[in-house]
Amino acid sequence: MTRTVYVNGDYTPEDQAMVSVFDRGFLMADGVYEVVSVLGGKLIDFEGHMVRLKRSLSELAIANPLSDDDYLAAHRELLARNDITDGLVYLQVTRGNPGDRDFAYPPADTVPTVVMFTQSKPGLADAPAAKTGWKVVSVDDLRWGRRDIKTVQLLYPSMAKMEAKARGADDAWMVEDGRVTEGTSNNAYIVKGNTIVTRELSHDILHGITRAAVLRFAREAQMKVEERAFTIEEAQGADEAFVTSASAFVMPVVSIDGAAVGSGTVGPVAVRLREIYLEESLKTGV
Ligand code: PMP
Repeated sequence: MTRTVYVNGDYTPEDQAMVSVFDRGFLMADGVYEVVSVLGGKLIDFEGHMVRLKRSLSELAIANPLSDDDYLAAHRELLARNDITDGLVYLQVTRGNPGDRDFAYPPADTVPTVVMFTQSKPGLADAPAAKTGWKVVSVDDLRWGRRDIKTVQLLYPSMAKMEAKARGADDAWMVEDGRVTEGTSNNAYIVKGNTIVTRELSHDILHGITRAAVLRFAREAQMKVEERAFTIEEAQGADEAFVTSASAFVMPVVSIDGAAVGSGTVGPVAVRLREIYLEESLKTGV
């Protein structure tokens, strides 16, 4: 089946979809994105992703071209047209096509480009990796200083992912001034006793939608949450570690730079939080 994608209001076979070579997203990574997971045909945490999309756009002074209802309708239409039960919907909004290349932003009436596509991932919630956990390695965080804006400039996280693979790991934890910021495409956590530690929100990290939900569920389950930065050494000495993202949900981390975390196997807190997150977010899925 040929995938149908969304480009500026049209639903088009992927091999016929077109975006200008002058699009600012292509030339300057001048665009933002969101990824929403789909479980059993339902969009998970959709509203949170829309709130963050609008914030990212407003921080970059890109006009928001669609209403939340329009975005929701387009998500649903793509799921139906591509027969998606489990998977992801990727949404990207760029500053559009000014017709030429220039560092200055184009006039405010330049129409943003909106692209959306689906990725089918049957059994997404039952990823085998959740049973064995991820190995991570540390790398320097060499990204720009506004990581709270979800821009499409993903080259450094992509390089870090390749370094992790080259070192036999599943992902990298990025470190700045001696402390972990986040994973290449996820937020990072450690567990010590009944306490979950994760870096506080700032311009240094993406404000994960899954992070917000998981911390809420953890507090409701009487766990203690400390929002502060931690070092790789502290993480290696923790009882457990895990990451969260819209596509990995809650994913246990079993080793960091070759050192086992806790028992070196998937820990009970990560398993429990994964169960709670999947159960609760399915209830509120749209
Ligand atoms: N940090 C980074 C750098 C990310 O790319 C992502 C995933 N988009 C996250 C954290 C997790 O965010 P979310 O839970 O909203 O997917």
